[in-house]
Amino acid sequence: MDDLIDQRDGPRDECGVFGIYGPEHDVHKLAYFALYALQHRGQESAGIASVQNGHIMTVRDLGLVNQVFNEQNLNALAGDQAIGHVRYSTTGSSAWENAQPVHRSDTRELALAHNGNLINAVELHSELRERGVAFRSTSDSEIIAALLSTHPAQTMEEAIADVLPRLQGAFSTVVMTRDGVYAFRDPHGLRPLSIGQIGDRFCFASETCALDLIGASHLRDVVPGEVVSLDAKGMRSRQVVEGARQAFCVFEHIYFARPDSKLEGNRTQVSRRKMGEILWRESPVDADVVIPVPDSGSPAAAGYSKASGIPRDDGLVKNRYVARTFIQPGQELRKQGLRLKFNPMPEVVGGKKIVVVDDSIVRGNTTRQIVAMLRDAGAAEVHMRISAPPIRFPCHYGIDMSTSTEMVAHGRTIEEIAAELNCDSLAYLSLEGVYEAIRSTRSTHCDACFTGEYPLADTDQAKGKFALESGLPLVRA
Ligand code: SF4
Repeated sequence: MDDLIDQRDGPRDECGVFGIYGPEHDVHKLAYFALYALQHRGQESAGIASVQNGHIMTVRDLGLVNQVFNEQNLNALAGDQAIGHVRYSTTGSSAWENAQPVHRSDTRELALAHNGNLINAVELHSELRERGVAFRSTSDSEIIAALLSTHPAQTMEEAIADVLPRLQGAFSTVVMTRDGVYAFRDPHGLRPLSIGQIGDRFCFASETCALDLIGASHLRDVVPGEVVSLDAKGMRSRQVVEGARQAFCVFEHIYFARPDSKLEGNRTQVSRRKMGEILWRESPVDADVVIPVPDSGSPAAAGYSKASGIPRDDGLVKNRYVARTFIQPGQELRKQGLRLKFNPMPEVVGGKKIVVVDDSIVRGNTTRQIVAMLRDAGAAEVHMRISAPPIRFPCHYGIDMSTSTEMVAHGRTIEEIAAELNCDSLAYLSLEGVYEAIRSTRSTHCDACFTGEYPLADTDQAKGKFALESGLPLVRA
C-alpha cells in the first residue's frame, strides 16, 4: 500500500488470536466478534477454524474481519469449539497461504493461530524439512503447527509440553484439535494472552477488549511458559517452563493494545494518560493549546493537558477510513500528502503556540508532514512531545518495524531529530517515566527497541540469522 495512505508511520502491528471451547455457545459468532475487537492487531487477513462432527473446518482470507466473513461462510463454521486469528504482515508476505489459522493433519489434525515471532525458525524449519515435512506457507506459525502435528505424543498437552521449550522467541498461541482448545505462551511472556470465562466455559484472547465484547469476564492471563487446556472436562493448567526472565513487551502498553484492554493489571488508557502527565512533568513547554495526533496520541495528550492546565483541542481531524482505500492517490493528489489521513483546523491552531502529542515516532515521515501542515495552517510554534523514548533498534519479537537506518532517531541526538522534523522543540518520555506509568520495572519487560538490550539470551545469535530469511522468507505472525 502506498505510504501516503497507509494507516500510519508507526510500527506495524503483529497479530491477534482467540480460542473457545463451548458446545452450548455460538462459538463461530463469538470468534467473529472477538476478532472484530482485535482488528487493530492485524488488518491484512482474518480466519476462523471450528470443529464440526469431529472435523476441523477453516475459513481464512485476505482482508478485514468483516470483509472475510459473511452470514453464509460464518454460519458454515457453527460447531462446539473455534479458534480465530487476525494478522498483519509486511508487503510481499501477504499471500493467502500465510493467512491463519494454519491447518495441518500429519499424524494429528489441528488448527493453530499464533502471535509472535520465532527467533530459531530457520533451524526448526531445516530440521523439519530434513525429516521430510512439507510446508505450504512461509509463516513461522506453520513450523509450530508442524512440530505439534507430527509429534508422536499421545495427547496434545504432552506434545505442547515437549515442543514449547524448543521454541525460542515470542509466541502467544492457540491450537485446536477435534477434542479441545489449548493455549500456550512463551516462557518470557512477550505478547499478551488472556483467559476469559463465559458462563461455565472458558476462552482465550490476545486482549481483554475481545472478552468484553463477547460478554466474557477476564479470569486471568495465561502465565508465561504455561499450557492451558479446554475440553469436555473443563480447564486444566500445566506449567511447562518456570523461572525464565520475564520480558513483556512494554510497547504493548505504549502503542499496540487497545486503550480499553487491561495489560498486567493496568487499563491501557489510564497508563497512557499517566505517560502524558509524566511527559509534562519531565518536559514542560510554554504553549496555548495541546493537540493530540488522533487517535494514537489522544490519551497522552489528555494527560499532558490535565497536568499542565493547558487546554486540549482537536487541531487535527483524522479520516478514519483511510486504511481501507486501496486506490493509489496518483500524482495530483500525492502532493496533498498526509491530508488524506489528517486535516488541520486553522481556527484551532492559527496564531497559537501548540504542543502536539503522539505516542511514538519511527521513520518520522508522518510527524514531519504534520508539523509542516500545522505551520501552513497558521500555528505560531509547534512543539512535539512523544509519550515514549526514541525508537532506535529493530524488534525481533513479532513487531514489524523499519530497519534501524530508516528510523529517524537512529544515530541522531534529540536536537538533530527536532531539526529533521522542523519543530520548535522536541521531547520524549524517559524510560523511567514509562515504567512509572505502568507501575513496573525493566526487569520484567522488553524495551529493546528503545535501548538495544535484547532480553532473550539468544537474540544476538538470531539477529544474524534473519539474513537467511531472504532465502527462506519466513513471515511474522
Ligand atoms: S523490541 Fe520493542 S516492540 Fe519488540 S518486543 Fe521489545 S519492546 Fe516490544
